[in-house]
Amino acid sequence: PLLGETIGQNLRRTVERHGDREALVVASQGFRATYQQLWALTSQVARGLMALGVQKGDRVGLWSPNRFEWVAVQYATARIGAILVNINPAYRTSELEYALNQSGTKVLLHARGFRQTDYRGMVKEVQPRCASLAAALVLEDDWQRLLDGAADVSEGALAAREASLQFDDAINIQYTSGTTGFPKGATLSHHNVLNNGFFIGEALRYGPEDRVCIPVPFYHCFGMVIGNLACTSHGATMVIPAEAFDPLTVLQTVQAERCTSLYGVPTMFIAELDHPRFGEFDLSTLRTGVMAGSPCPVEVMKQVQSRMHMREVTICYGMTETSPVSTQSALDEPLDKRVSTVGRVHPHLEVKVIDPGSGEVVPRGSPGELCTRGYSVMLGYWANPEATAAAVDAAGWMHTGDLAVMDDEGYVKVVGRIKDTIIRGGENISPREVEEFLHTHPGVSETQVIGVPSKKYGEEVMAWVRVKPGATLTAEELTRFCTGRIASYKIPRFWKFVDAFPMTVTGKVQKFKMREASVVELGLEDAAA
Ligand code: ATP
Ligand code: MG
Repeated sequence: PLLGETIGQNLRRTVERHGDREALVVASQGFRATYQQLWALTSQVARGLMALGVQKGDRVGLWSPNRFEWVAVQYATARIGAILVNINPAYRTSELEYALNQSGTKVLLHARGFRQTDYRGMVKEVQPRCASLAAALVLEDDWQRLLDGAADVSEGALAAREASLQFDDAINIQYTSGTTGFPKGATLSHHNVLNNGFFIGEALRYGPEDRVCIPVPFYHCFGMVIGNLACTSHGATMVIPAEAFDPLTVLQTVQAERCTSLYGVPTMFIAELDHPRFGEFDLSTLRTGVMAGSPCPVEVMKQVQSRMHMREVTICYGMTETSPVSTQSALDEPLDKRVSTVGRVHPHLEVKVIDPGSGEVVPRGSPGELCTRGYSVMLGYWANPEATAAAVDAAGWMHTGDLAVMDDEGYVKVVGRIKDTIIRGGENISPREVEEFLHTHPGVSETQVIGVPSKKYGEEVMAWVRVKPGATLTAEELTRFCTGRIASYKIPRFWKFVDAFPMTVTGKVQKFKMREASVVELGLEDAAA
């Protein structure tokens, strides 16, 4: 059954059962806490926030890379019924100002900075323009002050606050990744995210013995839900390698902390597998893990299974607006289903594939827009009823904007995003299909395929390719490789060799930026622009 409780009530149950077990390890800060200790810390932060005047429903912004304070604030805000506003670490002043004002943030907790960026200076700059912002605290400098403030609020006052909360209260504004454009703030409840985390943990068969390496950012639901909530609802240990993703640190941490599970978006796993020192590490404690966030190439999944020992690796599919996961491959599924599909629908949720024009369900095996319904669908976009109405229909279905195919057994294949489909001379081309094919070339490490404007065909296929270390590749060689193996209209007409792709902090490739850059570089006229 669905859990009918708040995040605080759920965490307390785990503390009662597994209080002495390790809850959180943050390698980069040398931080370790048992569930008892995490509970005590979140109690203190909760009272400290109450001392600052944070009421139920108030927005508390958090702008920081992955640190132990992040986890403490995540659970403390949930325990006092505040709404945590997750702010992307890559944001700069204009985006920060937008997020603070759009959410009406009252208290902002932020790191000193991140990757040469001075957060303090930026906060000072925008603060006069953010009317709702009453206080801004620096995690590294003001943490003790926040904890000391707890002395002014009794345990009883915290208990009374906790008792006043409902499980379907909003507790989180999660901005989407911004892969396709401007991020939108999804409002999520305890019920949304706690249950999603719980069922992800069930699917991965998590227990107190599991040690889960989480290199994905907390500010995103991959870190906060698939990571933290899946662990805490099953008594597993959250293991955080570093403030931000670095492949070597992940390999070192998995070995040193004997992790049983590892997460990442496909590009993270590729960076780990390709790392020159990969062979030095003992990863044999790994059992399972999650690849998610963008299309997971079959070849990469196979390598993760064999070279990283992740026999039970699964793929999750979802989106911020659905808390996030709606389908997941099961551990005992045959390998081919587990690597080539995103699995089947999660418990207590529904998915369907429709013709986006007519809204009718398409026959199994035909592509269409994937829709999700059930407990995990967001309460709505924060303060944006028009956008909510455009995304969630009257019957409660979230229209994902993703193209998918469902087979007779209910397995879902994500074909791509509707926005990314290339239409060349009237032929619909799935970039995903071309990418999967190019990945079978031994010299290709990573590839991303886009459509660029063409006077003759409307759009032409272009591939950006990152070559494996040590290999050399040319456009001629790749064209030859494609010829006779895929239909000629799908063969990329333009090739570009790169070291990196434009990416969100969540590690997702921003194809709209690739398109913009290619239009300029190739001197094309963008009819759409
Ligand atoms: P924005 O909505 O701001 O453009 P975004 O959609 O990337 O950004 P998220 O909510 O982080 O923001 O990501 C959800 C999307 O990620 C899904 O709609 C889907 O396109 C993609 N995705 C997630 N998991 C998978 C997967 N396993 N396979 C393919 N695509 C996936
Ligand atoms: Mg989206």
